[in-house]
Amino acid sequence: MGFRVAVQWLHSCAGCEMAMLDMGPRLLTLLEEIELVHMPLLVDHKYHAPEGAEQPHIPAADLGIVTGGVANSEQLALLRVMRRQCRFLLGVGTCASHGGIPAMINAWPMAEALAATYQGIDSGSPPAPDQVPQPLDRVRALDEEVEIDLLLPGCPPGPGQLEQVLTGLVAGKRPATAARSVCDTCPTRRLSMADRKQVRRFVDNEGLAVDQPVAAMRCLLEQGLLCMGPVTAGGCDHDGAPACIGARVPCRGCFGPVEPRGNQMLAMMNILASHGLDFRSVVDRRAMLRFAGAHGLLRPIMAAKRKGQP
Ligand code: SF4
Ligand code: SF4
Ligand code: SF4
Repeated sequence: MGFRVAVQWLHSCAGCEMAMLDMGPRLLTLLEEIELVHMPLLVDHKYHAPEGAEQPHIPAADLGIVTGGVANSEQLALLRVMRRQCRFLLGVGTCASHGGIPAMINAWPMAEALAATYQGIDSGSPPAPDQVPQPLDRVRALDEEVEIDLLLPGCPPGPGQLEQVLTGLVAGKRPATAARSVCDTCPTRRLSMADRKQVRRFVDNEGLAVDQPVAAMRCLLEQGLLCMGPVTAGGCDHDGAPACIGARVPCRGCFGPVEPRGNQMLAMMNILASHGLDFRSVVDRRAMLRFAGAHGLLRPIMAAKRKGQP
């Protein structure tokens, strides 16, 4: 019997699964060494339990891969079964490691967010509450619910990164993970402090220098743009530069914090201050947690307070 792999998606947009498929021929090579025993996106395997059984059925595997965070009762049950059935559990993507974009909903009370989204929509005859998964009070990262052996953030991680980690795990090697930031591999010119006080919006940027090599461009943060490279985990390099910087776009923080339980918003406010930029000029500072709002970092604010402040 080969090395058995089970893949389960939870609160996922399927982008992480697409990144796995994007491995292309490298995935075909890997498939020669593994036996894919469960992957709802690719394999028509009915994992739901027969009527009467309490838990969904997922076959036992050497490696379990989970994408997406946890937002409802069904996803929580599936995650627990994956933990029980898989010897090594790998969380793939920033939703899995830090809540990702779906955890932005944690900034509102869940009942209020659901009412604002669905109230007033005529959906015919809605199913009874016990026939559909129930939303949790907030979106969670995987390690808030079960023990995870390794987390690979990225929205999504690159196919090259996935290949490296997966081939290592199949060969019995745990990949080394060093804490490094997006800035660590950024080739832009760094001179000094920012030459302005206010953070400006990217759409107002007139100095993109698209006709120049990226190494000739001045650091976007020093240009007064909200580049989250200093507080974001590295790993998205492409053609000699972090992916967005190579496209002359500031880093939005999609790999989550450099340290696993870091707070990108607090860290970025410190960085802005150390560059002489006024963090109060960022209109919605909590948006700096747009990719990493799980682990209790993004919390609902009171309605009265919400009315008055950014
Ligand atoms: S990490 Fe990004 S690509 Fe992956 S499931 Fe979440 S939103 Fe989609
Ligand atoms: S702040 Fe942005 S532009 Fe500046 S070095 Fe870091 S990643 Fe590069
Ligand atoms: S530069 Fe930042 S936002 Fe862009 S892919 Fe890399 S980590 Fe994500």
